Amino acid sequence: MTRVLAIANQKGGVGKTTTAVNLAASLVHLGKRVLLVDLDPQANATMGAGVDKSKVDATVYSLLIGQAPIADVVVKSENGGFDLLPANRDLAGAEVELVEADARESRLKTALGEISGNYDFVILDCPPALNLLTLNGLVAADAVMIPMQCEYYALEGLSDLVNTLRRVKQNLNRRIEIEGLLRTMFDPRSTLAQQVSDQLVKHFTSKLYHTVIPRNVRLAEAPSYGRPILAYDKTSKGAQAYLQLAEELLARHNPVDAAQPV
Ligand code: ADP
Ligand code: MG
Repeated sequence: MTRVLAIANQKGGVGKTTTAVNLAASLVHLGKRVLLVDLDPQANATMGAGVDKSKVDATVYSLLIGQAPIADVVVKSENGGFDLLPANRDLAGAEVELVEADARESRLKTALGEISGNYDFVILDCPPALNLLTLNGLVAADAVMIPMQCEYYALEGLSDLVNTLRRVKQNLNRRIEIEGLLRTMFDPRSTLAQQVSDQLVKHFTSKLYHTVIPRNVRLAEAPSYGRPILAYDKTSKGAQAYLQLAEELLARHNPVDAAQPV
């Protein structure tokens, strides 16, 4: 069964794209077939996967406005080992162009329906806004992963996201659930980070991934080489953390599968 996972948080810079790209590559490393979907006009996931956004013929934009079939949009990330639906600046226009369109929130879901059977996981990298693009992601998804930094304002805005998810669940997608909150860019030497993390553990217990992604400069460097961390520095703490996250994800959904040696 295909699992569609949206990586969402309307805050920018919390590690959504880093998580989307590296989780995708880590799942491939563990033998899974993965499709990564770049839903952000900034196209950071596209570039981070080693695909030049200025050279792609068709993008998620073409897909959403019905200009190209999904088979014409899929490209391969050689560095990541996964398939990619790329983005570029055009995607920013989709918001406006779809205002009057039929079923504008479920365009991605419909498109993915044609090929999702080819994959074990479809990972959606959402933009930093609760806009129509994110909505398309939430309607297509089985579950949401929410990356967050352990800082003072981390929880602010979370209620907006939770309310949006509630509305989506009521009106558009009954399946959707919050799969988990992911602590990103964690610095164990920071007392504040530790305190916020303790609070998250207290409030969200089962919804919090055990895996914590540390602040790691190698994770920040890798995108400029168009490489997921596994193809850049496999031994780094960042690479190990994202592999652990992928294992945790598999263990949650398929305990037998996760027990297989890598
Ligand atoms: P978002 O997609 O939520 O806007 P990004 O994944 O693009 O966030 O991350 C924001 C910035 O922080 C990027 O420059 C990225 O390289 C960097 N970054 C993300 N995660 C880490 C980490 N664990 N350690 C160090 N830098 C990170
Ligand atoms: Mg991003």
